[in-house]
Amino acid sequence: MSSALRLEGVRIAYEGARGLHTAVDNFSMTLEAGRIGCLLGPSGCGKTTVLRAIAGFEPVRAGAIFLGELPLSSPTTHVPPEQRRVGMMFQEYALFPHLNATQNVGFGLRRLAREERDAKVAAMLALVGLQDAGERYPHELSGGQQQRIALARALAPAPALLLLDEPFSNLDSGTRERLTTEVREILKAAGQTAVLVTHNEAEAHAMADRIGVMHNGRLARWSGQAERA
Ligand code: ADP
Ligand code: MG
Repeated sequence: MSSALRLEGVRIAYEGARGLHTAVDNFSMTLEAGRIGCLLGPSGCGKTTVLRAIAGFEPVRAGAIFLGELPLSSPTTHVPPEQRRVGMMFQEYALFPHLNATQNVGFGLRRLAREERDAKVAAMLALVGLQDAGERYPHELSGGQQQRIALARALAPAPALLLLDEPFSNLDSGTRERLTTEVREILKAAGQTAVLVTHNEAEAHAMADRIGVMHNGRLARWSGQAERA
């Protein structure tokens, strides 16, 4: 199977008062199309930093990031975020409170003709099991429902790669467990290649085909339950 995402020897550093501080170093991983990869590690180990670099919000100081055969980032290449076909579902990206579920899901589809957009939104709401919730506003939805709408919004523009940054951490543990399984099924049904980051080991094992353990900005192990369907 072809690799959808490849990172090769990536270094990411932040500018600080005393010069550059390396947050992620010598980071390499590959993920095949349709697979769900997970970066697992404690707070501060660099998980969000890796996702931000994949999304194009942080430059790469060494190494390279490829989506399929296409170079996205290197010290001499930087495809802008909006041209990467990388979608994101971040915990802190709440839904737009003044838009209902249909409008939230349709947000990234504003360039489509009305009919096409409505059909796509309906399909996305059905995919996340909320086909009857289109008229509801975020405050009328439970936390788990809100995250499913956020997932529908992230999937709607058909990104080549979806990034999920601790998407379940604001939820109670029951909702979290249920949603972890549901989200895996939704991503698999959509054939979506995705990278999840979490500090929760149970969540990583429930969601992912491959798990990488991160420690101090490095990937200690990138292993495969690669054969898992
Ligand atoms: P995680 O997501 O695993 O909790 P982060 O990627 O957020 O970790 O952070 C990794 C390291 O980079 C930490 O030491 C953090 O303090 C540092 N860091 C993250 N964001 C910035 C930033 N915008 N400026 C400077 N340092 C940062
Ligand atoms: Mg983080």
